[in-house]
Amino acid sequence: MAKQNYIGGKWVEAKSGATDSVINPATAEVIAEVAASDKADVDAAVKAAAAAFEDWSQKPPRARSEILNQVADAIEADMKTLSALEVDNVGKPESIIEFEMDLVVDNWRFFGAGARFLEGRAAGEYMEEHTSFLRRDPLGVVASIAPWNYPLGMATWKLGPALAAGNTVVLKPSELTPLTALRLAEITADILPPGVLNVITGQGQEAGAPLVTHPDVAMVSLTGDVATGKAIARAAADTLTRVHLELGGKAPVIIFDDADIEAVVATLAEGSFYNSGQDCTAPCRVIAGPKVYERFVASFTEAAKGVETGDPHDANVAMGPMVSARQRERVAGFVERAQSAGAEVTTGGQAIDRAGYFYEPSVVVGPAQDSEIVQREVFGPVVTVQRFADDDQALAWANDVDYGLAASVWTRDVGRAMKMSALLKFGTVWINDHIPIVSELPHGGFKQSGYGKDMSIYAIEAYTEIKHVMVKW
Ligand code: NAD
Repeated sequence: MAKQNYIGGKWVEAKSGATDSVINPATAEVIAEVAASDKADVDAAVKAAAAAFEDWSQKPPRARSEILNQVADAIEADMKTLSALEVDNVGKPESIIEFEMDLVVDNWRFFGAGARFLEGRAAGEYMEEHTSFLRRDPLGVVASIAPWNYPLGMATWKLGPALAAGNTVVLKPSELTPLTALRLAEITADILPPGVLNVITGQGQEAGAPLVTHPDVAMVSLTGDVATGKAIARAAADTLTRVHLELGGKAPVIIFDDADIEAVVATLAEGSFYNSGQDCTAPCRVIAGPKVYERFVASFTEAAKGVETGDPHDANVAMGPMVSARQRERVAGFVERAQSAGAEVTTGGQAIDRAGYFYEPSVVVGPAQDSEIVQREVFGPVVTVQRFADDDQALAWANDVDYGLAASVWTRDVGRAMKMSALLKFGTVWINDHIPIVSELPHGGFKQSGYGKDMSIYAIEAYTEIKHVMVKW
């Protein structure tokens, strides 16, 4: 039987009875059938969330905090099943899944704590004989729309702050990777009151779009593609529904001539191919200084050749498949067009001939700054390398893309690192590292990488509205 939607604490089929197949990208085999929801299912889910709002939003922070900590405990207790689902549904190697799951649990615990620490300015008499104070009120029903690259992780970044602040949620996971969201609903069914978390599965147009325009949805939070973000912002404009967008990235890695090249290569050998490069902050766009360029290209090419790619269940494997046939075709197209335009592929550049959607770790050297492979998000195991002439050009090239999610700077010169961190237009700038994230600190974009922050207390604030209450004496 197909997996059902989770609405108002009950498991229900899509009203139309339609289903979608879910595929394991490492084998191309169907591993599940799930509900293919449409507007009628969206309506039911929003209604259930709206009905649960009053009680949930009025619980004291301590009560919500304790419940979110119980969710963390439930995830921890179910780690084996959740990890296995993520491995089979996304093709993540078993060798990397523990790190992601550990962050998920820590995120829930952080949001549990954060529920108790909302801040405002001091209450006081800002006008004679009137006392003013601020409240941070929850918004109502939040529509959370998640992508496929970290299905449980991205769902957590949306659910945690929304629930901590007192909202109720309808979560629509990606049509490609709905299994851990459904499992989360299952293991929290006795923890979260009915209607607080609703999960509906389905396609972007059929299930996502009606959720965005539903009149009883107070806020839409999307992690996804820039084009999807724009479509959602446009659709939400009609009702002025609040929008929170975590979109694509094209992270530059600026390597100055004084950098520790071994450290950069080691970090990128892991980070650029982590999750098959399907990561919005992946270090995918190297801009290297004139004196270290040749050495970096040679050393990184060797490192990329050494990235063990294959069966996610093999403990030695560091990189699995692309999430879908379509994603692999998209990645291959980028590399082919870059080659035709004159860039050199020093390793990789081919699909791997086996079942599933595997693609080689690839290094593309010497593309032009205005070329497609430098300007657009590839979202695959592909790293470009460009040689800059001086600091000004490095900075200009790094900023010269539509995206602004994350960047890294590699140098031993503190002043240069400070200057770069001030002038780079990216939501996160790492100095002498790339990728680490922690629950306490915000993750989010500048420019077309979107607006609104995930993780940190800023995420919780984003799911609230400030209310001023003024009392006349
Ligand atoms: P996507 O935009 O194709 O899909 C994301 C979600 O939006 C899915 O659930 C999809 O069904 C839904 N959707 C699609 N069209 C919709 C519509 N018109 N209305 C409502 N919902 C709709 O993205 P994806 O391919 O699943 O994920 C990859 C993208 O996500 C990449 O661009 C990546 O950079 C980005 N991403 C960003 C972050 C971040 O934190 N900034 C994190 C992870 C992934």
